[in-house]
Amino acid sequence: MKSQEIRQRFLNFFENKSHVIVPSAPMVLKDDPTLMFTNAGMNQFKEYFLGNSTPKHHQLADTQKCLRVSGKHNDLEEVGKDTYHHTMFEMLGNWSIGDPKDASVGYFKKEAIEWAWEFLTEELKIDKSTLYVTVFEGDQQDGIAKDDEAFQIWKNIVDEDKILLGNKKDNFWEMGDQGPCGPASEIHVDIRSPEEKTKTPGKDLVNQDHPQVVEIWNLVFIQYNRLASGKLQELPAKHIDTGMGFERLSMVMQGVQSNYDTDVFTPLLSEIETITGHTYAKNEATDIAMRVIADHVRAVTFAIADGQLPSSTGAGYVIRRILRRAIRYGFTFLDTKEAFIYKLVKVLVFQMSEAFPELKKQRTLCENVIQEEENSFLRTLAQGLSLLDQMVEKNKGKELPGEKAFELYDTYGFPVDLTSLILEEKGMTLNEEAFQKSLQAQKDRSKNAAASKTGDWEVLQETENEEFIGYDRLQVEVELVKYRKI
Ligand code: ATP
Ligand code: MG
Ligand code: MG
Ligand code: MG
Repeated sequence: MKSQEIRQRFLNFFENKSHVIVPSAPMVLKDDPTLMFTNAGMNQFKEYFLGNSTPKHHQLADTQKCLRVSGKHNDLEEVGKDTYHHTMFEMLGNWSIGDPKDASVGYFKKEAIEWAWEFLTEELKIDKSTLYVTVFEGDQQDGIAKDDEAFQIWKNIVDEDKILLGNKKDNFWEMGDQGPCGPASEIHVDIRSPEEKTKTPGKDLVNQDHPQVVEIWNLVFIQYNRLASGKLQELPAKHIDTGMGFERLSMVMQGVQSNYDTDVFTPLLSEIETITGHTYAKNEATDIAMRVIADHVRAVTFAIADGQLPSSTGAGYVIRRILRRAIRYGFTFLDTKEAFIYKLVKVLVFQMSEAFPELKKQRTLCENVIQEEENSFLRTLAQGLSLLDQMVEKNKGKELPGEKAFELYDTYGFPVDLTSLILEEKGMTLNEEAFQKSLQAQKDRSKNAAASKTGDWEVLQETENEEFIGYDRLQVEVELVKYRKI
């Protein structure tokens, strides 16, 4: 089943269950001082859950473009390395928003669970034996009971040994330190091959990051309100908030074992193959680079189509960094020395414009902006190369002081993995210890300036771009160094 059809089936299914289908909210948020990017489907309904406003319709469904590169939900480091976390992804969701004045409005756990199951196993005909579910086990310290209600509902649907108990971290959702919250039930799918199963037996793999045992759907039952005192109060009107990863669902439906092998990503990967001359699925390092590029071009294109151009501050800076990360992976692992990522926009437009018409409308802008950014960063890289040449000349045959590499990296944005590589070619080494020291000092400075990351909503501060440097420019490059060593 094509991904396009999967998305449509989801929306039709919930429309038939009296949901109103709403458009995706923008991925880049302009008016919310507490959040830069939409990171979940429910973001746009926050005010309803807080009781600050009343929706026209109480049962809603959509596909939401999300970006998880900052704050509590920051998946950037996994992207490319694993096969099921993306920066930008679509979250399919259905909601019930209760009304304190009218108990007949909306639905709660029973319908949310039964419909999720019906959609997966009857509408999409996913093999029931591959599915597991989780239920909140309770938390004594916090005085929250186990979610027996959900447990009982699931027991009528699946064998008891398919129901796993989960802790507060995975199975209890809170908006922040105060406000609406409640237990969650997740649906996981185990698509390991029989051979892989013998290598990694048991179902205890759930939630333990096996790339083929993944969470696909999260059902949140918003039934409490946390008071400033920390105490929980039953909400007068309860709500349902669900989110399912569209690319992961496509992976399951298309019988493949990586999101990148679905039709959401294969056209992008094959264009990258054509442009770079590298073949996907041949070598782990180039594969990661190709996945990073295929992923990041989506994040950047959707952001630009939302009106967020790359820039040197705030959300624009985050977008610039994501694009530069992609350029760097190309430069380092695929030998791309000329702008090429902009050429992938047309593939994305072709594939996604039906669901997201803004892509088609903004195509030229996206291409031009990405190409310009690529050229400019490639110039920076070239400048760094020439400075490094001078440094090499001065320190011929010796170790390059780590501070020098850090200067290149910090002032000129020249990646340290490239520095190492070039030094190696010249028969030189890098004083990594000194480099790491400077790096750590920089990291500590960023950390101190970083935003609070406790809730779904970040508390943005003026130093938000430094926070981003903290994990992209620093961490990622350190990781590249690590990777190269393996
Ligand atoms: P995970 O544990 O895999 O990181 P999550 O618990 O952080 O997922 P939720 O916040 O529950 O994710 O989001 C709802 C659904 O969105 C998940 O069940 C998953 O299918 C999907 N999802 C979450 N993060 C990503 C991501 N970075 N890329 C693709 N899909 C994602
Ligand atoms: Mg996560
Ligand atoms: Mg999870
Ligand atoms: Mg989850």
